[in-house]
Amino acid sequence: MSRLAQTHGLTDVQTEILSTVRDFVDKEIIPVATELEHRDEYPQDIVDGLKELGLFGLMIPEEYGGLGESLLTYALCVEEIARGWMSVSGIINTHFIVAYMLKQHGTQEQKDHFLPRMAAGDIRGAFSMSEPALGSDVSAISSKAVKDGDEYVLNGQKMWLTNGGTSSLVAVLVRSDEGHPEGTAPHRSMTTFLVEKEPGFGEVRPGLTIPGKIDKMGYKGVDTTELIMDGLRIPADRVLGGVTGRGFYQMMDGVEVGRVNVAARGCGVAQRAFELGVQYAQQRHTFGKQIAQHQAIQFKLAEMATKVEAAHAMMVNAARKKDSGERNDLEAGMAKYLASEYCKEVVEDAFRIHGGYGFSKEYEIERLYREAPMLLIGEGTAEIQKMIIGRRLLEEYRFQG
Ligand SMILES: Cc1cc2nc3c(=O)[nH]c(=O)nc-3n(C[C@H](O)[C@H](O)[C@H](O)COP(=O)(O)OP(=O)(O)OC[C@H]3O[C@@H](n4cnc5c(N)ncnc54)[C@H](O)[C@@H]3O)c2cc1C
Repeated sequence: MSRLAQTHGLTDVQTEILSTVRDFVDKEIIPVATELEHRDEYPQDIVDGLKELGLFGLMIPEEYGGLGESLLTYALCVEEIARGWMSVSGIINTHFIVAYMLKQHGTQEQKDHFLPRMAAGDIRGAFSMSEPALGSDVSAISSKAVKDGDEYVLNGQKMWLTNGGTSSLVAVLVRSDEGHPEGTAPHRSMTTFLVEKEPGFGEVRPGLTIPGKIDKMGYKGVDTTELIMDGLRIPADRVLGGVTGRGFYQMMDGVEVGRVNVAARGCGVAQRAFELGVQYAQQRHTFGKQIAQHQAIQFKLAEMATKVEAAHAMMVNAARKKDSGERNDLEAGMAKYLASEYCKEVVEDAFRIHGGYGFSKEYEIERLYREAPMLLIGEGTAEIQKMIIGRRLLEEYRFQG
């Protein structure tokens, strides 16, 4: 265990899980991550290993075959995994959000049907809100479901599905006007559909096409796709929770725990960048001494380590708040905002410490430099986090004069 980012007050079970995951990351992920990333190759062996460790069912209740662990345990595992390779945490994250939404909002039949196989990692989840014309402004969704007997017919185009190709269950948010009169607020006329499909690309179910992988600057290995619905027929019992019009709230609930997870990823990537920076600074010599002995470099290391500590503390606080049953949108928004900004800064400092070698693909920091920006965008951009934080502050500190 490193000196930084320690978490106090963990149970023996949590400590054991984390030490197993860290060991797995050091032995099975870090040695192969950069090579796989450069080839944009799906890390099948790593995913199989995570399945064996039970990580796909970490937060799924024991009655459905999961480990029934807390959000904190999950977030700390994500931090460890992202320290090894952020894309691997992306493979787990959308699965975790869909399982969480099912646990919180699914009908009993939906939970019984999906959760045991999700806990085993046999069904893998993705979630889909974004469209080509919108990401932040979820209320502008234009994909639509229209009722036809016992089924709904879905049409529209979705964008940016993490695990769009490899998943077999996608939680898709669309507009469903049925039962909602003209003038109903947009977020009250949206519904989440549980769409089962074959993994892969092309027409994966009648009316449903996953065109192919989007070519990205980083966050490689994990597939990110579009999703096209053209007369896709979904039975009414696959409306999440069985009632239309609740999709917006269900998704926002999922994204809220997702934000703690993105914060955890930022912490993990920043930790790795610090490790790489502090090692390199003691290997490289200039002007007759280790660059770590130049005060300018020591100051950088000091700033980096302080940011790693601060982000970790805020992430842990946000997870613990949710685990205690309290509302945590303020803490999750702050943790996500701070951890992703600090991550970008720590990675940049580690990159600078590497001098010209940071620009070479031979050095791990080059990969981290391309990965960090994704955290500024996913689960809501920095601007959206600040909007959430600002609104909540005005609720808490309402002027009483
Ligand atoms: C690699 C990757 C994976 C993704 N995975 C998923 C996924 O699995 N599922 C999914 O549904 N989506 C996913 N997304 C989409 C992601 O959630 C959106 O990209 C993100 O929410 C931003 O939306 P946008 O790209 O449409 O940007 P826009 O909403 O168009 O924003 C553009 C800019 O304007 C700013 N902005 C927007 N509105 C405001 C405002 N009111 N005030 C101030 N500034 C504002 C934004 O902060 C940003 O800087 C993924 C994206 C990426 C890049």
